[in-house]
Amino acid sequence: MISGPRPLSGLRVGVDLDGVCCDYVAFLRGFLLSAGRPPSALPEPVDYELSDWFDTREARVAAHIAAVGAGLHRDAPALPGAAAGIGALRNLGASVVIVSARGSHGEDPAVVRRDIDVWAQTHGVSCDDVHLGRPKSAAACDVYVDDSPGDVLDLRAKQRLAVVFDQPWNQTVPAPRANGWTDLPALLVDLLAPGSLVARGP
Ligand SMILES: [Mg+2]
Repeated sequence: MISGPRPLSGLRVGVDLDGVCCDYVAFLRGFLLSAGRPPSALPEPVDYELSDWFDTREARVAAHIAAVGAGLHRDAPALPGAAAGIGALRNLGASVVIVSARGSHGEDPAVVRRDIDVWAQTHGVSCDDVHLGRPKSAAACDVYVDDSPGDVLDLRAKQRLAVVFDQPWNQTVPAPRANGWTDLPALLVDLLAPGSLVARGP
């Protein structure tokens, strides 16, 4: 529990959606099961590309687009602690910016945005801004929280502070790493608060 002043005041914290706030894998698995895929063909993912689930990138993208049509962006379950964690960051003074690459597969931007708003309202999530698309560095945040190895490493290559949100598919990405939402607020205070002795990147 963090008390006292608001150590993240004035800071923009960029938070990814899928794999950080939203359980993308759970929704996609349910969608594929309902379409007739056997559970044995959908093991716990070990890489970001879901290579155990799909033989080709084209097959993965096609399933993604079909799942979006079935409500993935609107109805994906929340990951544990996401709403409370975002609330905690805002209580610490941070501006929380949703930073998502959603829409990268030609989805209607207005629908993408509307689905985010519906999802946030459903789960009691309040944020201060939304940035869609890549590069995520364009969101101009002081720190980013993301599960994608590619996005985390791209941000760090651009000298941005990026925390990897622990998932089975990003185990090789170096620290700083958040082991779930309960860890995240204190970790960001350590990384960002004035006087912190914790390094800001690799
Ligand atoms: Mg993600």
